[in-house]
Amino acid sequence: MNSATSNSTRVHWWHGILARSLMGVVGIALLMGIAASLLVGQVVGQHVQDRALVRLGELLDTVESTVSVACFTADEQLASEVVQGLLRNTEVRRALIRAGDGEIAGAERRQRPPGTDRQMNDPAGSMVKRPIYSPFNPSEKIGEVQLEVDWAAVDAQVRESTGFATALLAVSLGLVIVAAAAMMLFLVVRPIKMTSDRLHRLDVVGGERLAMPEGHERTEIGRLSADINQITGRLVEVLEHERTLRHQQEIGQRKYQDLFDKAVSGIFVADRDGVLDSVNRAFVELTWLPEKRGDARQKLSDAGWQDLEGLLSIIRASLDHSDESGVAEDDFLLVGNRGDERWLRVAVMPVGDGSVQGTVSDVTQRKREELSARRLAITDALTGFANRVGLHRAFADIGAATAPFALVMVDLDGFKRINDAMGFPVGDELLVGVAARLREALVETDFVARVGSDEFVLVLAGEQDRKRLSERIQRLAIRLALPYDIKTNAEHIPLTVSISIGIALYPDDGADIQDLLRCAELALNFARTKGGKTYQFFEPALQEAVEHRRRLEDELRSAVSSRRLQVYFQPIIDLRQGKLVGAEALLRWFHTRHGPVSPDVFVPLAEEIGLIGEIGLVVLDEACRHAALWRQKGYDIYVSVNISVRQIPDDLPHETVREALRRHKLPADAVAIEITEGVLMGNVSVAQAWIEGLRADGLRVFLDDFGTGYSSLSYLKRFTMDTVKIDKSFIRDMNADNSDRALVDAIITMAASLGMHVVAEGIEDFQQLVLLREMGCHYGQGYYFSRPVAAEDFTATAMRINAELAELCPSVGESPAKTL
Ligand code: C2E
Ligand code: MG
Ligand code: MG
Repeated sequence: MNSATSNSTRVHWWHGILARSLMGVVGIALLMGIAASLLVGQVVGQHVQDRALVRLGELLDTVESTVSVACFTADEQLASEVVQGLLRNTEVRRALIRAGDGEIAGAERRQRPPGTDRQMNDPAGSMVKRPIYSPFNPSEKIGEVQLEVDWAAVDAQVRESTGFATALLAVSLGLVIVAAAAMMLFLVVRPIKMTSDRLHRLDVVGGERLAMPEGHERTEIGRLSADINQITGRLVEVLEHERTLRHQQEIGQRKYQDLFDKAVSGIFVADRDGVLDSVNRAFVELTWLPEKRGDARQKLSDAGWQDLEGLLSIIRASLDHSDESGVAEDDFLLVGNRGDERWLRVAVMPVGDGSVQGTVSDVTQRKREELSARRLAITDALTGFANRVGLHRAFADIGAATAPFALVMVDLDGFKRINDAMGFPVGDELLVGVAARLREALVETDFVARVGSDEFVLVLAGEQDRKRLSERIQRLAIRLALPYDIKTNAEHIPLTVSISIGIALYPDDGADIQDLLRCAELALNFARTKGGKTYQFFEPALQEAVEHRRRLEDELRSAVSSRRLQVYFQPIIDLRQGKLVGAEALLRWFHTRHGPVSPDVFVPLAEEIGLIGEIGLVVLDEACRHAALWRQKGYDIYVSVNISVRQIPDDLPHETVREALRRHKLPADAVAIEITEGVLMGNVSVAQAWIEGLRADGLRVFLDDFGTGYSSLSYLKRFTMDTVKIDKSFIRDMNADNSDRALVDAIITMAASLGMHVVAEGIEDFQQLVLLREMGCHYGQGYYFSRPVAAEDFTATAMRINAELAELCPSVGESPAKTL
């Protein structure tokens, strides 16, 4: 306990309990003493007077008979002696005896103390009179004795008695006071003082406690000490607890402060109006918050938030929903003084006093990536135009208020072939060139998107007039058809490309972008079917064509499932030996209403709708079955089966082919597989493995329609093929066109040099046959020998051909002389 406290509680003895108790006791004793002495004086005085009067009465009783005699005899002597006798009593001041009317004796004491002349004041009270009766006749009064009381003597007696009693009382009271003071001192004051002194020196926090004053275990002082110990114990506990709490709080506060100061994220506390209560260093750095000026409080609005209202609204939302989690967050753009941009994620949560605590982190990188991903998602990387998603997004909201426009779909004719033949880099360069010309041809209000590999969509604002539109589109088509100078790594390749265009008009042809795209695509497809290089406005009739195709799809499905497709066979002739050596299996569909449908129509359809795998298996099985039959009949020929690119490799695994051969007990060389260059253009390694697998099993692989692709020659070197089939388009024009003839000649020579056979397709006349034989072409097929025929007609056809050829070509190497 410190000295200040002990000084403040120092007790001077005159303020102490002892002094106060003594003063109280002395005061009470004085009052009691005065009251008691007054009472004693009064009582003793009365008593002494009464006793004096009684004694005087008794005195008269003793002298009464003597006085009666003296009065009866009028003996003055006797009377005088009696008076003298009476005066000997100290309480009698005067005695008088009367007989008859006269006095016969009387005497009086001389000395009388001054101021005690009570008879003057109270003559009746101080005189005792006794009538005297005749000794012979007690009813006859013969005299009287009078005694006057000596009150001075009586008072002296009273004073003496009272003084004594008072002195006795004073001594007793004095003793009582001393005893009480001693008791108080030893029993109360001393133990309290000792306790108090100990209490002053007590180290309560150090666990020290008050010792119980000796002999006071059961007294109030003992209880007081126990209570003090108990209270101090509790107090120390509370203090200890509070100290621990404060310590923890201090540690927590320090930790929080440390975290707050060093956090990488910005932290702030603000009210609902954005007035900042506190911010950390990271917050200031992240938000470019200007320095605090004077006493003015910093505000969120001091930083360059682009959407301050938005920021304040999430703060308010957080405060208004503080009963729930109250967490609200969003991304906000901040622009610094120098125009730097920064995206910050702000998350706020209420802290209870109408403020929020917020964290701020820099998400600029993520935001940029998101924005660029979003841009990429709607942009075509090659041309920089919008892609299909971008187009849909740009025209998602067209409605009554939208001005009329024309949606023009532009497609490059034969782009796939260019791509396949010359490679993707050339294809890409071409697309970039086309995009550049489109960009030049468009005005600001127009929109352009690339929606497919070689499909562009132009949205020409305000265009509705068909004539003007046609002129503009023709100009565009001419411009796009001008030669392109494609730069590859090694060389400049001049390329030309024609385009097909389909046009749909808003609002006439469709109410939304999907409808318009569908209409434009229909029109484009129609332009393509017309051979390309043209444009077509959408017309409702085109819709019917689509309907037709849809019906065709359904009917093809049903024809496949009910096995109504047939396989025809076209003979393949050994031109040198003049005999039939094989047959190409060609699919036929005889539609109940439309008649025969060309495989060029339904095979691509089957490919598109995923039926080609199933169909291919049927064709393979039928081809094997008939080959086996013909071999049994003595025709040692093979069948070649056309395989679509879509069947490779999963729809026609090697095992399936082997299984077909096993089923029909055919050797592997009884079946040849015809593939087109398209197979080689896709996934090269897969195609190569598939072809090698077949050849390893002993099957032959023919490259069909050779010459229609661009890089056929180089592909021939890469892929090991048994036979090339020269496309019929070259054979057809061979008679008239020298270049085609030269090309056919070159193909035959090159194939020979690579050790490959050649089948010329589409031999229709004798001249073509002669030319091909002259060029050294080994095999051929065509209408000149036979059209494709049903399987049941094949043997007859074979017999006919063999017979005719035997006649026509009697010896190997000889030129035929006659037409068949
Ligand atoms: P391709 O494989 O090139 O078949 C030869 C095509 O030329 C056949 O047409 C045939 O009838 C026709 N042709 C034969 N000789 C002559 C001729 O002298 N002059 C003319 N102008 N044409 C001749 P087709 O049967 O219409 O088949 C067309 C194409 O359909 C086939 O061309 C082939 O690519 C495909 N194809 C036919 N059957 C199947 C099949 O079972 N599977 C697959 N994947 N495609 C098939
Ligand atoms: Mg073929
Ligand atoms: Mg062919």
